[in-house]
Amino acid sequence: MNLENFQNIKQLLSEPKKIVIVTHRNPDGDAYGSSLALYHYLLKLNHQVTVVSPNDCPDFLKWLPSRDEIVIYEKEEDKGIKILEAADIVFTLDFNAFHRTGVKMQKTLEQINPIFIMIDHHQQPDDFAKFTYVDSEVCSTCQMIYQFIEKLEHIDFIDKNIATCIYTGILTDTGSFRFPSTTSLTHKIVADLLEKGADNSLIYNQIHDVNTYDRLQLLGRSLKNMKVENKFYTAYITLSQSELTRFNFKKGDTEGFVNYALSLKNVIFAAIFIEDRQQKIIKISFRSVGDFSVNDFARNHFNGGGHTNAAGGRSDESLNNTVSNFLNILPFYQKELKQSYEK
Ligand code: 5GP
Ligand code: MN
Repeated sequence: MNLENFQNIKQLLSEPKKIVIVTHRNPDGDAYGSSLALYHYLLKLNHQVTVVSPNDCPDFLKWLPSRDEIVIYEKEEDKGIKILEAADIVFTLDFNAFHRTGVKMQKTLEQINPIFIMIDHHQQPDDFAKFTYVDSEVCSTCQMIYQFIEKLEHIDFIDKNIATCIYTGILTDTGSFRFPSTTSLTHKIVADLLEKGADNSLIYNQIHDVNTYDRLQLLGRSLKNMKVENKFYTAYITLSQSELTRFNFKKGDTEGFVNYALSLKNVIFAAIFIEDRQQKIIKISFRSVGDFSVNDFARNHFNGGGHTNAAGGRSDESLNNTVSNFLNILPFYQKELKQSYEK
């Protein structure tokens, strides 16, 4: 997005407005981190601001500053609709297509007519926003929020709360600074966030050192279920609804499991298939290292998308059929997988 657009946005934000911030369904650290960072920032500019999220986050994010103020659309639909209908400006963060907010919220977003401003780091954005600030090379939407505030010449507005929220999304979306999307600029920004009061050690502990016994048992079960397709440099994990139920599955429990499959030597493509009997779908996460695009793979075969090395998708078939389909598709990618492995 060019400088003129940032100046237009700055102008737009120079008078108090009714602003709603929306993020995707099943919000992660980057979704809630970016939403709450922007929330705290816009409050400082004297706007009337509400964050509306399709559903709530896992427990390990519930400590985020002002997370209690978020309106959860699936719990308070009428309130969510009213707030969205009254909005002058709607920021959409960490997603680029309305369907990522779920069927119900998607409908409302399609019907309203505010000024949409998209801030996101996924590939191939839909064309619904007046201002589309998108860069798929940036590690996280949180880093983009920092850059957005910087472009509006308000870096001094970043206080401890804002720094904490931004730090959280950068931490979670970079796998604790280890993914290739982590650049020197990321580290420079993070250094500044620490100076502005983000407590790196505390944030890490609140997110990662909160395992339950059940979650570790579920991890054990996942690792037991893991299968390797050597020919395709691929490993995958399945979890059925009965396994999830047996270990008292709570939202967020399976976060990161797919990375164990990817961490295997000689594996460059990993997937986890998780049965959701309530939604009647199989939710899939794909991960890769190197050139193999799981964004393309998820888009082409599993109604999904995301980034080159991390994407998600879904299937309406049974767990067994979904996995069979996956295994039937793999041979078509054998050459690509081999090339990516050998590179
Ligand atoms: P995860 O596997 O952690 O759920 O998601 C990995 C990445 O893929 C995230 O950036 C997420 O936004 C994206 N993603 C996950 N599920 C979907 C989906 O169903 N559709 C699309 N387009 N992107 C997804
Ligand atoms: Mn993100």
